[in-house]
Amino acid sequence: MEALKIEEIVKKVLLEISSKTETADEQYGIFQDMNDAVEAAWHAQKQLVKFNLETRGKFIEAMRKEARKHVELFAKMAVEESGMGRYEDKVLKNIVAIEKTPGIEDLRSEAYTGDDGLTLIELSPYGVIGAITPTTNPTETVICNAIGMIAAGNTVVFSPHPSAKNTSLKSVEILNRAIVEAGGPSNLLTTVSDPTLEQAEIMMKHKKVNMLVATGGPGVVKAVLSSGKKAIGAGAGNPPAVVDDTADIEKAAKDIISGCSFDNNLPCVAEKEVIVLDSVADYLIFNMKKHGAYEIKDADVLNRLQALISDERGNPNRDFVGKNADYILSKIGIDCDPSTKVIIMEVEKSHPFVVGELMMPVLPIVRVKDIDEAIALAVKVEHGFRHTAIMHSKNIDHLTRFAKEIQTTIFVKNGPSYAGIGVGGEGYTTFTIAGPTGEGLTSAKSFARTRRCTLVGGFSIK
Ligand code: NAD
Repeated sequence: MEALKIEEIVKKVLLEISSKTETADEQYGIFQDMNDAVEAAWHAQKQLVKFNLETRGKFIEAMRKEARKHVELFAKMAVEESGMGRYEDKVLKNIVAIEKTPGIEDLRSEAYTGDDGLTLIELSPYGVIGAITPTTNPTETVICNAIGMIAAGNTVVFSPHPSAKNTSLKSVEILNRAIVEAGGPSNLLTTVSDPTLEQAEIMMKHKKVNMLVATGGPGVVKAVLSSGKKAIGAGAGNPPAVVDDTADIEKAAKDIISGCSFDNNLPCVAEKEVIVLDSVADYLIFNMKKHGAYEIKDADVLNRLQALISDERGNPNRDFVGKNADYILSKIGIDCDPSTKVIIMEVEKSHPFVVGELMMPVLPIVRVKDIDEAIALAVKVEHGFRHTAIMHSKNIDHLTRFAKEIQTTIFVKNGPSYAGIGVGGEGYTTFTIAGPTGEGLTSAKSFARTRRCTLVGGFSIK
């Protein structure tokens, strides 16, 4: 899987999209009442663990196979329903979730042997996991969580974002149908037809839900961490991209625009502000413009943009989250080429665009005098989220120092931010990056309990 290049994967999957079965009347895993959804998932988990690992692996392959047929549908529904993001990028994100989320192979055992016998450390299921999913990657998170959580022997009750309800429910239904058609139990994945905060509350408090996994902003992470249950929190980010005077500036400009504009800046890993050394700032901006950036220089225009898209603390106006750059500019009376990818502007370090997580293709640039100032500012505006940071540099000392000081879960060197989730970078993919609780880039083993089995005497052949 690792050896496959993203372009090859995209080509392969798009070729396979021929036998799309659009709708099913059966309500695979979708219940009206959250209590029923949890009960069904609880019963399904008892069934799931009766199958051997090889069969569990077959259910996962069936999910991947069926999901491949629907990547275009998932991308189309997500853009239409949420009003956010770019169709072609969502196709890619779904493909990556399907192809590069680890399955049962992620569950590695450990063994201790010696005169006293054999002790095994095994990864066992929690049971039923409550997974809360965001509007920014609705189907990608469902796919990624479903694969990882089922691989670890759990069933999942999803609580999707109401603004991406139909899209999320569709993906749950399609994955469930694939499992059932592969001979698996119904309801390995469940959810409710009308997800609300009240339904999420019921799910979080339900005694048959053993673990909670929240992918979203600070509110939902706090909610699961206050639940009293084992919880994984994958929260907000505000990734800074630092560019120093040793970087390949032309490549840095191209990478930053690619990363920042990917799905119109919705990914939590996407570049949210640039911090650049004064000596190379002009050349960086010049090159960013060559790669599809529109620069705002006029202070009045900048003020109008700010009044439109964010408050004074940098909280985004939801109406503009994930929208195209040309659409945002048109709302302040600027006509530009629809191919414009990102709106850039030079600002002071305390500007709301720098401080807040805008999640739109608007990229503030702060000019600093030296690397000390660059690193200090990047650490400050990342707010200790421990999420993602990017650096363009060829100076090993700078790269090492920044990585140590910023303490992020993902640190991308000399590439676009999405390389950090396995898109054009080595390693597997996840759409649940758990900085606050420390699991990092989650995978099946993050959703499993560590258990010890000790056999006393014998079995050691050392
Ligand atoms: P959001 O926080 O508005 O919603 C996320 C989910 O949490 C939704 O299902 C929502 O209904 C639910 N929710 C919100 N408050 C809740 C509460 N008090 N109790 C129960 N459920 C609650 O986020 P969003 O706008 O959908 O997504 C964008 C945010 O998510 C950004 O901050 C982004 O950085 C973050 N995000 C993080 C990751 C990651 O892996 N760390 C991945 C994707 C998105």
